[in-house]
Amino acid sequence: MSARILDGQALAKQLQQEIRPEVAAFTAEHGRPPGLGIVLVGNDPASEVYVGSKLKTGTDIGFRSDLERLPLTATLGETLAVVERLNRSDVHDGILVQSPLPKAMGHDAEQRVFDAIAPEKDVDGLTPVNAGLLMQKRATLVACTPRGVIELLEREGIPIAGRHAVVVGRSDIVGKPLALLLLHRDATVTICHSRTPNLVDVCRSADILVAAVGRPGLVTHAFVKPGAVVIDVGINKVTEPAVAQSLFPEGHKRLDLFRSKGFVLAGDVHPDVAEVASALTPVPGGVGPLTIAMLMKNTLRAARARAGTPV
Ligand code: NAD
Repeated sequence: MSARILDGQALAKQLQQEIRPEVAAFTAEHGRPPGLGIVLVGNDPASEVYVGSKLKTGTDIGFRSDLERLPLTATLGETLAVVERLNRSDVHDGILVQSPLPKAMGHDAEQRVFDAIAPEKDVDGLTPVNAGLLMQKRATLVACTPRGVIELLEREGIPIAGRHAVVVGRSDIVGKPLALLLLHRDATVTICHSRTPNLVDVCRSADILVAAVGRPGLVTHAFVKPGAVVIDVGINKVTEPAVAQSLFPEGHKRLDLFRSKGFVLAGDVHPDVAEVASALTPVPGGVGPLTIAMLMKNTLRAARARAGTPV
């Protein structure tokens, strides 16, 4: 069997086309575009790339997209002050603080900064208010990556109700909210993590298997029931030759890319899973682009809710 490749890039483009006229209609009605404020502290290279894509996509679709940049040496207080300013801003409907914050800011800095975001502008769905509303199946703003996974499954016509979904990873930003979204769509959900015994066996019982771990190639074909749908959330920068060679056979263009660039991006799912899964998301070009599309949807939702129009 060779898995159907679920093209997140194409779906993200389609979603952007769908959002564009809605953004134009909002702008015409309210005399201003929906606005997104992104806070970037420091100069982490991956964060620079992610933030650049978010700003560009937002601007392309017609949003107001502003970058609030703080130096690596910024304090927690200075970061909180920027969030407070965006909370009070009339022209910003969504606020996103790019993770990770610099380590020097303290171990609980992210929690404190996320907690400070006004819930009605929390387009990452990370505040306790929005996490609680999600728990009770009445959230307006849900974390973007899990929302993207659900959108992909639904648009690809992959049934969720009554299926066994196994989510590997229990983070607040991906694993936990995704497990809740699957549960709300009547899947039977198992959450696995670093302390789960018999991970291979649990994964092999999944009809829908999601990997959100951050370990390149962790999920091999041995983890996958023949015919299962496999969603790869992981985005890992592989710099070790041995790891690259364990993922891609000699002569594979991704291995050649690794050798020319010194790194390659890989998911948590080993490419050999394509031989047993019925459908599979690629990395890159799977879940990643959908995360940005969902950020746009969430910002428009937040703008409509703030303007008192139906979301
Ligand atoms: P995280 O580090 O917060 O959580 C990782 C989870 O994996 C933890 O719950 C941990 O218990 C579990 N885990 C670790 N080792 C394990 C093992 N050996 N077996 C089973 N479980 C294990 O990570 P995160 O923020 O949830 O991100 C996970 C991955 O998804 C990363 O690669 C990240 O880059 C990627 N990601 C992608 C997008 C996207 O847009 N596609 C968005 C967010 C995160």
